[in-house]
Amino acid sequence: MPSMPSPRVVTRFAPSPTGHLHIGGARTAVFCWLLARHYGGRFVLRIEDTDTERSRQEYTDSILASMSWLGLDADSAPVYQTRRFSLYDEYIERLLKSGDAYWCRCRPEEVEAMRDKARAAGEKPRYDGRCRALGLGPGPGHAVRLAVPPSGKIVFEDMVKGTVSFDVNELDDMVLRRADGAPTYNFAVVVDDVSMNISHVIRGDDHLNNTPRQILIYQAIGAALPVFGHVPMILGPDRQKLSKRHGAKAVIEYEKDGLLPEALVNYLVRLGWSHKDQEIFNREELIAHFNGASLNSAAASFDPEKLLWVNSQHLRALSSQEMLPRLLPFLRREGIPVDDTDHIMRCIPLYQPRVDTLAELAGQMRPLLLKAADIVHDPAASAKFLSAEGTAHVAALRERLGTLEDFHKEALRRCIHAYVEESGVKLKLIAPGLRVCLLGTGSGPDLADIMEVLGRRESVERLSRALSHAGALISLHRE
Ligand code: GLU
Repeated sequence: MPSMPSPRVVTRFAPSPTGHLHIGGARTAVFCWLLARHYGGRFVLRIEDTDTERSRQEYTDSILASMSWLGLDADSAPVYQTRRFSLYDEYIERLLKSGDAYWCRCRPEEVEAMRDKARAAGEKPRYDGRCRALGLGPGPGHAVRLAVPPSGKIVFEDMVKGTVSFDVNELDDMVLRRADGAPTYNFAVVVDDVSMNISHVIRGDDHLNNTPRQILIYQAIGAALPVFGHVPMILGPDRQKLSKRHGAKAVIEYEKDGLLPEALVNYLVRLGWSHKDQEIFNREELIAHFNGASLNSAAASFDPEKLLWVNSQHLRALSSQEMLPRLLPFLRREGIPVDDTDHIMRCIPLYQPRVDTLAELAGQMRPLLLKAADIVHDPAASAKFLSAEGTAHVAALRERLGTLEDFHKEALRRCIHAYVEESGVKLKLIAPGLRVCLLGTGSGPDLADIMEVLGRRESVERLSRALSHAGALISLHRE
């Protein structure tokens, strides 16, 4: 492990706003955020928007919204690369003055021809450095290139990959500032990381090949290197590149599906990091344990089923009070009335152990929250469980329930069991019929629990309405 922490841990997440935040990027962001929080350091967000063709404001907005939903708060306002061109120019001036950079007038076609030639000779495609000794100044079509040392090795200790080494021979004099004045990606990243005092650069290992180039820029600037950590890509369950077909989605979609942000954070951290055998972590535990060690160098596979399981565990840990504000948007989206929040809170525990997402919770709670008149009885379940015999049992039970003094679940349970004993019918034969009457569907939570939260008046009304509905159907069939 490289020495850690450096005097002050400052991490950054540096997305390019060319798409929504996906789980790979989100995991990188979580790692960066956790490292900063663990060491009491700073976490900054940098929007790498220099590719003006592909960058879009809507993606910046969406990334910011996803970061905020995930609870990955930054310690300063987001930094936009497009607003820092004068800083990049200052660094260019310094490097030109020190002789570490030079003006190049080669046109892109010429450079391409050099590369083709090198390829044909079986060498690495590279710029041949022909403008280096010309002492050119600025001019139309002139770019600025880094004067890369002729040989040597670049070796660094990666937090994830261990010792990584590259041969300088493999690198050519890279462009730092394009002919149109824009900084190149590698140059802007280094200037930003240096000027923002970034101590730890954690990013996807698709950037590993950029790192030796960036290290050369650090050396030319005369800045100390940060600690690098290149995390492996997340793969699909088939070990192929992760994509939509594996069920991977953008973070905003998981929000719409009813995942809890703390569950997604928990799941993402575990895709590439471990702490003993623990699977479920709350935020405080993650901050306490995530010290940058135990990052896995093998690529992890995304498993949508496990994500749902992790979410279900976090859902179960919430009190009804905590669940309510998270659930309300999903109830509203289903068109379910939400004015009686006390009633909603009483209904939550009935379904909480039975669901994986908030969307599912809202959907399943729906019949409990609707008015009796708005319950839709599933015709197949009604036909199956509310035969003449089934309705007779429901009618008999309704009589008992209507006069039951104590309507708490224990008393309700006793009442139902007494009926079962006396009538000799099996509970499993009458329970689905009762549920159809109360909820519209044959399956659901415990009957006594359902009736307790509905209360006597509502329970009896639901039974009566369902009975007259079923009675009408039965006589229709008899005719
Ligand atoms: N903007 C780069 C990306 O979105 C990240 C660069 C970095 O972290 O150094 O892949």
